[in-house]
Amino acid sequence: MNKQDKPLKVTIKTFGCQMNVYDTEVASGILKHQGYEIAHEHEDEESSVIANEVKQSQIASSLETPRNDRQKKKDWRRIDSDIVLMNTCSVREHAEERVQSRMGMLKKAKETNPDLIIGLMGCMVEEHREKLFKKYPHLDLMVGTRNLKELPDLIKTVRERRTQVSSIKQDGISIEYTDQIQRTGKYHAWLPIMTGCNKVCTFCIVPITRGSEVSMKARDVYREASRLVEEGVQWITLLGQNVNSYNGAEVTVGSKQEAVSSLQNEVAVPTADSFLPTGFPALLDMLCEIKGLERISFTTSHPHDATEELFQVIKKNSKISRRFHLPLQSGSNNMLKRMKRLHTFDEYKEKLARLKSLVPDISLTTDIIAGFSGETDQDHEETMKALEAIRYDGAYIYKYSLRPGTPAAKLPDDVPQEIKEKRNAELLTLQRKITVECNQSWVGKTTHVFLESQSSRHPGFLIGRSDNEKRVTVKAPPDKIGSFVQVHLDSLHHETFTASLLL
Ligand code: SF4
Repeated sequence: MNKQDKPLKVTIKTFGCQMNVYDTEVASGILKHQGYEIAHEHEDEESSVIANEVKQSQIASSLETPRNDRQKKKDWRRIDSDIVLMNTCSVREHAEERVQSRMGMLKKAKETNPDLIIGLMGCMVEEHREKLFKKYPHLDLMVGTRNLKELPDLIKTVRERRTQVSSIKQDGISIEYTDQIQRTGKYHAWLPIMTGCNKVCTFCIVPITRGSEVSMKARDVYREASRLVEEGVQWITLLGQNVNSYNGAEVTVGSKQEAVSSLQNEVAVPTADSFLPTGFPALLDMLCEIKGLERISFTTSHPHDATEELFQVIKKNSKISRRFHLPLQSGSNNMLKRMKRLHTFDEYKEKLARLKSLVPDISLTTDIIAGFSGETDQDHEETMKALEAIRYDGAYIYKYSLRPGTPAAKLPDDVPQEIKEKRNAELLTLQRKITVECNQSWVGKTTHVFLESQSSRHPGFLIGRSDNEKRVTVKAPPDKIGSFVQVHLDSLHHETFTASLLL
C-alpha cells in the first residue's frame, strides 16, 4: 500500500470459537502492519444465555459487551469499509446460515460499491473451499487457516486484477506466533498450542475443517508465553480443539533428559526435573514457572484425555484457573456410544469427582447437545439427571443440527424440531437454576480476582474475573487495573458479583 494514500479500512467479522478470535487477531496484526486500518466485529453465534455467560467468561477483554454489540450491529449495515472479511465457523448450521445471510447483505452493498472487496477465512473456507466462489460470485478472496500471512498479497491481487483468488493449504499447522498480532486484551492473551483432532465424535465437523492434530513445539509455546508476559500479559488461555492431547514432542530429541536440556539451552526453564515437554500436563506445569504469568486457563478438553496427571498438575499450581470445562454432550450411555465419545457417563462422573476431591473449589462447565440422532425421552431424562448430579456452574446447550460430511450425517436426524426445542428449553431451565444456586453459594466468601478494566456503567467500579472465572465488579481505584486483589463477594446480580476490596 502506498503510505501516502488514506489507509484502506478492513472490517473483520468473527464468528465461532476462540481459535477464530485468535486467527482474527493475527490477521488484523498482519494487515495493520501493512498499513490497513482495522475495525472489528466479534459475534458469538451461541443462543443460550447460560452459554453466553460461559463464553463471555473466556473473553476477558469483552466484559461489558451487550450494549456495544447492539451498536456494532447497527454499524455493520452501513458497510463503510473498503474490505470486509468474515472469519467463519462451520460447527453448527446456525453459524453458517449467519454467514450466508451476511453474504446476501454484502452482495447488495457491492452493487452500489463495486470496489468493495469481500473475503472469507476460517472453517467454512476449509470445508467448502473453491466451491464458495461458485455459490457467491461477488466473493473476491478466500484464505485458509494456514495461509493468513498471504492475506495482504491476496488483497493486492484482487485490487489489481479484480479476480477471485484463494490460498488454502491442506497440511501443516495453522498457528502463527507473531509479534505483529493485534491483541484485543492488554493483560489477557489467547495462545493456541495445537490444532485439529484425531477423535471421530460423530456429530463434529472439526476433524474435517481443522484436520488431524498438530501441536506446537513445547519450546515455541514457552517462548511465546514468555514474550507475551514481557509485553505485560498476565493471563494466558491455551487453545486447542482438544488441548489434553497436546503432544509437543520434538523428533530430534530422544529421551526426556535430552528434551529438557535442549529446552533449557533455548530458554530459561527454571527446574530441569519439573516437566516432560511432551504432554499437556507437563506443558502446563512448565508454563506455571514463568515469572509474571499469573493465571493460565485452557480450552477445550476431552474426557478421555483428562487424566489423573492433569488433575495433579491443576491441584499443585494455584496459577491454573479454577474453572474446568469438560464437554459431556449427553448423560445417556446410548447417546455417548452413538456419538463415539469413548466413555460412559459413570466414567466421566468419576473423573470429575476425582478432580473435585483434589481441587474442591473448582467450577465445572460443559457442552450438551439436545436431540442428537436417535435420542429418546429416556436419553433426554438421563441428560437432565446428569446436570442434577454434576451441578455444573454453566453449560453450553445446543440443539443438534446435522453437519454434512460428519459421520452422523449418515444417521437419521430423527428427533423432530419441536422436540429438540422442548428438550433444549428444559435443559436450559434446569441449568439456569443450578447456575444461580452455584453462584449464590459463593456470596459471602472471599476470593482472588484479576481486575481488567473500568466499568463503563458504574463509575468507580472495576471489572474482573475470579480464580474460577466468575465475573466480579469491585469498587477500587483505577491503578488497581492489571492486578490481582482479594475481595469479599457481597452480592450477586444475574451472573455478576458485586464485591468489596479487602486490604
Ligand atoms: S474431540 Fe470430538 S467434539 Fe472435540 S473437536 Fe474432536 S471430534 Fe470434535
